Amino acid sequence: MSFGAATGSAMSLSESSIIEIFHRRFSGDRRGVVLGIGDDAAIMSLPEGCQLVAATDALVEGTHFLPGAPAASVGHRVLAVNLSDLAAMGADAHWATLSLSLPEADDAWVKQFADGFVRLAEEFNVALVGGDTVRGPLSAAVTVMGSVPSDQFVSRAGAREGDDIYLSGAPGCAAAGRGLLAGELRMAEWQADPSQVKASSSRPQAYRRSFEYPQPRLVFGAALRSIATAMIDVSDGVHIDLSRLLGASHVGARAVVPDLGALVADFGPELSRELFFCGGEDYELCFCAPAVSAAEVSRLAAQHAVPVTRIGEVINGAGLNWSQGGHPVKPAGAAFEHFEG
Ligand code: ADP
Ligand code: MG
Repeated sequence: MSFGAATGSAMSLSESSIIEIFHRRFSGDRRGVVLGIGDDAAIMSLPEGCQLVAATDALVEGTHFLPGAPAASVGHRVLAVNLSDLAAMGADAHWATLSLSLPEADDAWVKQFADGFVRLAEEFNVALVGGDTVRGPLSAAVTVMGSVPSDQFVSRAGAREGDDIYLSGAPGCAAAGRGLLAGELRMAEWQADPSQVKASSSRPQAYRRSFEYPQPRLVFGAALRSIATAMIDVSDGVHIDLSRLLGASHVGARAVVPDLGALVADFGPELSRELFFCGGEDYELCFCAPAVSAAEVSRLAAQHAVPVTRIGEVINGAGLNWSQGGHPVKPAGAAFEHFEG
């Protein structure tokens, strides 16, 4: 607590009405919630035979989203990035807490933020059980809590020589969207009208949607826990995140840059490859599974309607070696500057 009281400035929304906006939307019966918003702390029951899985991530204006970004997108993303971390553990998500820091109580901003947050929370049946509301630079931090059947979590550390390496979705698109929004990338059809985001089916708007409304692969991640040997979500770029997985598993890999789809037509082959390697913000899953599980991976991908590509194999030793069209390639590094610095 401590919203506004310290400064005494006039505000259109008090702390209690901000809490009320969230409380109203999360008052029904929720899985395992004994006590939710409104007491000193929340009380939840874990499903029988399960371990608690928790993750926290914060979004700060100017660092993780542009000043003036749609509030609904900020509300969506701050939950999505956290759910993606649970997905990468093979966990089911149950509960979340939210810390909001607002420079001033802007009624419309909070309501739109809540809309984005609640829509995604309802999609995955996640209950908001508490939080804090303070005055400060615009930022939002979420802690998500979920569960896995005891010892069935998927860490980054279990990849073994001979495993196949898979990637969901089309990494690179979110970074293209971020680059377009920040004015660092250009496309002829680009128009920066927020009202067009959900409606338009054009490619630039699709890139923008990938960045502003990423879909965490939560259900698919949980489905993979019986076969994946190691998993990570691609938040910082495929090269960096796969390298982290390999490092944690003490192995190396040979990998092939997949078909980058429309990115190549829109941004050229080199920049597209760089967006794929280093762009980040896609929240796709990169995971390993033994070769004998290939048919099961395909079956689960089809069942959950998640596009999955096999991009390589785990080898003994260290390092991640990429090729494209039969030629070795590697990330150029900071090929373009972006506002996350
Ligand atoms: P305290 O001073 O005991 O921390 P607060 O006034 O900060 O109490 O919060 C009152 C209740 O509202 C608590 O249950 C808290 O978890 C919840 N809460 C506060 N801010 C938020 C928020 N942004 N989202 C969800 N719940 C919140
Ligand atoms: Mg508090």
